[in-house]
Amino acid sequence: MSGIDSLPPLREVIATHQLSARKSLGQNFLLDLNLTAKIARQAGDLSCMDVLEIGPGPGGLTRGLLAEGARRVLAIEKDSRCQPVLAEIAAAYPGRLDVIEGDALEVDPLAHLTPPIAIAANLPYNVGTELLVRWLTPKDWPPFWSSLTLMFQREVAERIVAQPGSKAYGRLALLSQWRSDARIVMSLPPGAFTPPPKVSSAVVHLTALPEPRFPADPKMLETVVARAFNQRRKMLRAALKGMTPDIEDRLRSAGIAPTERAEQVPLEAFCALARALAHP
Ligand code: SAM
Repeated sequence: MSGIDSLPPLREVIATHQLSARKSLGQNFLLDLNLTAKIARQAGDLSCMDVLEIGPGPGGLTRGLLAEGARRVLAIEKDSRCQPVLAEIAAAYPGRLDVIEGDALEVDPLAHLTPPIAIAANLPYNVGTELLVRWLTPKDWPPFWSSLTLMFQREVAERIVAQPGSKAYGRLALLSQWRSDARIVMSLPPGAFTPPPKVSSAVVHLTALPEPRFPADPKMLETVVARAFNQRRKMLRAALKGMTPDIEDRLRSAGIAPTERAEQVPLEAFCALARALAHP
């Protein structure tokens, strides 16, 4: 018994199933079930929600989510070695856990989920940012998810919540903060994981806003932000000069001095610039 459920402790599970961690799959496991239950609690009340979990591995967070009362969990795991372990968890929580063996970048989970939907994951470092960007840039808003509770390397977490004027401020901060509330809710040292990674980690909680914080066309905003931060040390009149010959006027009409650098410009001004560039 592990304390949070009737299943065996994770160290025992890993030894029985010979689940040695694979670096190529970004496998740094959380084996402390009190900790995984605490992460699950950061997602809020899940009793009326379906939860999408990416990369359950040996199931530490999965068990946390289920023990904390998630209505249902759909877990997508690429490593086939984890399937027998996850099947044991599914048997202990009848009708509440479904597992898809596959690559989260390829599988469309929507057909298997009923709203409201929360996403929770200790993300594999090699696909974490790509998944986050996909979840933040769907075709329509609001998105299929209500909240994201995600473990990242600390440095990535800081880029998500960064404010203007900081080195971490850039595309990820603007994408995240335009249409969601984002905050760091937990910090974890390398020793919390097996094997320990080189760097610290943090859990970020994002709640989808019903509407974007400021109006802007998503494609235009993405283009402007990407161009501005591709050359973040340049003044905006230089970094954006390929967009239109009258970029200085457009910047001024958005209330931005053409000599400003992207790092200094707040979200609201980027949205104003996207609007100023939207008409010919
Ligand atoms: N959730 C477990 C925990 O907290 O202990 C494992 C987290 S580990 C950081 C990342 C997990 O994602 C691994 O189990 C790995 O096999 C899985 N994974 C890696 N790439 C994946 C992908 N493209 N799609 C789905 N799962 C993937």
